[in-house]
Amino acid sequence: MLKIVVTGAAGRMGRNIINVIRETAETELAGAVERSGHPDIGKDIGEVSGSGKIDIKLTDNFEKVIKKADCVIDFTLPEATMHHLEIALKSKMAMIIGTTGFSHQQRERLKEAGKEMRIVAAPNMSVGVNLLLKVVSDMAKVLGKDYDVEIIEAHHRLKKDAPSGTAMRFAEVLAHSLNRDLDKTAVYERHGIIGERKPEEIGIQTIRAGDIVGDHTIIFGGLGERLEVTHRAHSRDTFARGAVKAALWVVKQPKGLYDMQDVLGLK
Ligand code: NAD
Repeated sequence: MLKIVVTGAAGRMGRNIINVIRETAETELAGAVERSGHPDIGKDIGEVSGSGKIDIKLTDNFEKVIKKADCVIDFTLPEATMHHLEIALKSKMAMIIGTTGFSHQQRERLKEAGKEMRIVAAPNMSVGVNLLLKVVSDMAKVLGKDYDVEIIEAHHRLKKDAPSGTAMRFAEVLAHSLNRDLDKTAVYERHGIIGERKPEEIGIQTIRAGDIVGDHTIIFGGLGERLEVTHRAHSRDTFARGAVKAALWVVKQPKGLYDMQDVLGLK
């Protein structure tokens, strides 16, 4: 039985992950962690997540609860994830990271930590998005420079980072497939008399509205035709199931920094 600690346990993703851990025969919840001062600290996490009493209290003491665990699943904020990473590293605990919005420096630190512990970090843990990452890479290679590439993402009004980590992952994959430097070709917004579109641009546009769980569309616009592929997440369940699948997978792997393409065997 894999014992898992969930950080950000009272958040939107955290509550879903707790429910999936409880439903999965091979996993057991070992602890639930929130930031100090969270109003639900001390409450039964089963009741907070809506899956029924479990006799595990939500705590802010991460160091204490990981002593009982094999793996941590973290969907919080970049600063919080980096803090949890340093503590998990000391005990060589496996870690699944779903948080998005990391800086370049924080991503470099993740790579370093991956030399000493097992990590799966992915901005999107759904099977569909990870399959689509592979598909759009192939599409870009075939369609090439004659097709304009645009990415549109839409999320709920409470999302804190933009563009989404998933949109940026699509942009990185497309830039790589088209041999472009994303730092030089990404265009994040357009406004005013901006002139004609440059062929090498990779447009990344953000929409924030209501309770949209997460939509991503990739457009390849040519002359006389366009191709559009869209992924729509209907519920957070898809990400939570992916995170638990990643936890069950990573504990059987050697040390390293992996992503969901590794977990799903898509590489
Ligand atoms: P949320 O705001 O609902 O939840 C985040 C939780 O983390 C909050 O409850 C917050 O109190 C808690 N937190 C903050 N600091 C903490 C700390 N130091 N220790 C413990 N807990 C702390 O947000 P969410 O919608 O659940 O998303 C969380 C993150 O996951 C975001 O970065 C989001 O983009 C990302 N996300 C990733 C995927 C994926 O598949 N990888 C899917 C959905 C969301």
